[in-house]
Amino acid sequence: MALPAAQPCPSCTSELVTLKINVDGNDLVMFSCQTCDTRTWELAGHDIKLEAALEHVGAHAGRRRRASV
Ligand SMILES: [Zn+2]
Repeated sequence: MALPAAQPCPSCTSELVTLKINVDGNDLVMFSCQTCDTRTWELAGHDIKLEAALEHVGAHAGRRRRASV
């Protein structure tokens, strides 16, 4: 087994929880800190913003969020 080492949180250095989701053949990865609630996202190895991540997930699920409620 060659699991990658857990990354430390940039804010509090606790271990980040990694959640990987495959979206359209790309790895969308969420790093979540249970201690200070910091979350960062990567898509195919690149940092992306949360809004962009949700857009990818939403498109993959075939749902579109309406701008107005
Ligand atoms: Zn943290």
